[in-house]
Amino acid sequence: MLEGVFWGAIATWLLVGLIVEGLACLEQWRHLAAQATGWSGASTAIRYGQRRALFQWFSAVEKTARAALWLVSGALVFLYDTFLPGAGVPVVSVLPHVTGFVVTFALCDQLLREVVLIGRWYWVERACGMSIMAWPAVLADTLRRLLTQAVIALAAACALVWPLMIVGWPWQWLLSGVLLLAGSAVLYWVRPQLIEPLFHRFTVLAPGELRERLNAMMHRCGAELDNVLVMDTSRRSRLANAHFAGLGRRKRVVLSDTLIERLSPAELEAVVAHELGHFRCGHLHRYYGLQAVMLLSGYVVFGLLQSTMAPETTPAVWALSAYLLLPALAWPMKPVFAYMRRQYEYEADAFAARYAQRSALISALKQLLSANLGAATMATNYARYYATHPPGDIRLERLQN
Ligand SMILES: [Zn+2]
Repeated sequence: MLEGVFWGAIATWLLVGLIVEGLACLEQWRHLAAQATGWSGASTAIRYGQRRALFQWFSAVEKTARAALWLVSGALVFLYDTFLPGAGVPVVSVLPHVTGFVVTFALCDQLLREVVLIGRWYWVERACGMSIMAWPAVLADTLRRLLTQAVIALAAACALVWPLMIVGWPWQWLLSGVLLLAGSAVLYWVRPQLIEPLFHRFTVLAPGELRERLNAMMHRCGAELDNVLVMDTSRRSRLANAHFAGLGRRKRVVLSDTLIERLSPAELEAVVAHELGHFRCGHLHRYYGLQAVMLLSGYVVFGLLQSTMAPETTPAVWALSAYLLLPALAWPMKPVFAYMRRQYEYEADAFAARYAQRSALISALKQLLSANLGAATMATNYARYYATHPPGDIRLERLQN
């Protein structure tokens, strides 16, 4: 009875989330459609924005559908039973079987995720001319993601699920929650060093005018960076962007080669100053700190519910249920995180305007909006819910005043 109420509440919560997100995406679709004028139909930028909104919603549907597929159909328990050697076996000899279960689950789950990932590439990025990848390269990426997921699952099985099986209640959930956070931090640290190089080639920015400008700007900000790296984005896409990566002492700014091709050295300096602003204003620490608190509390609460709702569920199955359900259940946090990130963008813009040329930042932003087919305006609720960057018009207006 209690278990039925529990799952009913979860299903209702997920359904409400899908309706709310669906309405926000529909609002954006209509907002962009209203901008299409004349007989020529929608421009590429409008079509791109609409399809992105549609796939934004599909990715929410996908999270819920995957959780339902594994949990409601009983596929997760079936997979566990397939790997389990049988009752009465000491826990230590069960561990290799549990590892097989976790890795197989990760591979099947990633294959399911690929449906939306490949769909997004085909109907959004490729159809609107943003991606220049061909099928073999797309499928090679899928293989790389499967390989990466298998390795992460292997590590997670040993570091997370094994302790969960060995240590008794009530410490097991707190312990595995702490291990989960440690694992996430390790993953965040290895991603730029080990995982990203599987997908992109990085080269150190060659000496010259740009490098000197950047060094001088960083010196003005009192910052030290390991490296400024150039990523070979042009092999895959027309997108132009920059990002900041790394924790602790190993920090780096990454510029796409498409960005370097488009912007002048003064504009690139302003973009790097913006990225540096994210670091100097403590955005990374604040953002990931809040995410860690949310993850730990969600995970521990979910584990505590196990004791009352479904005490007979095996810890390995429950841990994977948490992995499947927590991201879908957290839908009300999306606008909170999006709001935080929009504020960060304003702060980083202000930082860049102080340490580089404001006019160069404005012209860089304008060029990036048009290069990336960014929507100049967004529907209010869609922007509230999803926009990790402020709508272009508002951002430019703030910089110009
Ligand atoms: Zn930014």
